[in-house]
Amino acid sequence: MSQPADTDPDRALIEAARDAIRRNYDAEGERHTVGAAVLCASGRIYVGVNLYSIHGSCAEFIALGAAITAGEREFVTLVSVRGADGEELLAPCGNCRQMLAGYAPDCDVIVPTGSGTARVKAADLLPYAYQVE
Ligand SMILES: [Zn+2]
Repeated sequence: MSQPADTDPDRALIEAARDAIRRNYDAEGERHTVGAAVLCASGRIYVGVNLYSIHGSCAEFIALGAAITAGEREFVTLVSVRGADGEELLAPCGNCRQMLAGYAPDCDVIVPTGSGTARVKAADLLPYAYQVE
């Protein structure tokens, strides 16, 4: 269920998320502060940045939405980072955990542990998730 996330593919995925926020970070308005990347079974990586608004969207939604829009349905690994250089690894928020439980329960999510990183199944990030029929 949980193991270190320090393989080359993981580092490449983290770098993709960092690149997404580096290219779009909004220092003035703080409208884009988080980047996310999802690796799909096809081998393709999709990225997103958050959209800040009253009911804005987390970067994880944008990345997974881009993947789904492109026809992807099998998700391998997801990661999120925060900051101008994507320097902070970020665990998905509660709303994202619910979304991942519904759309990508078997996807591994790279999360910070305090002393490093771990790889956790999305379904395990939200025990007793609300079940959409
Ligand atoms: Zn979120």
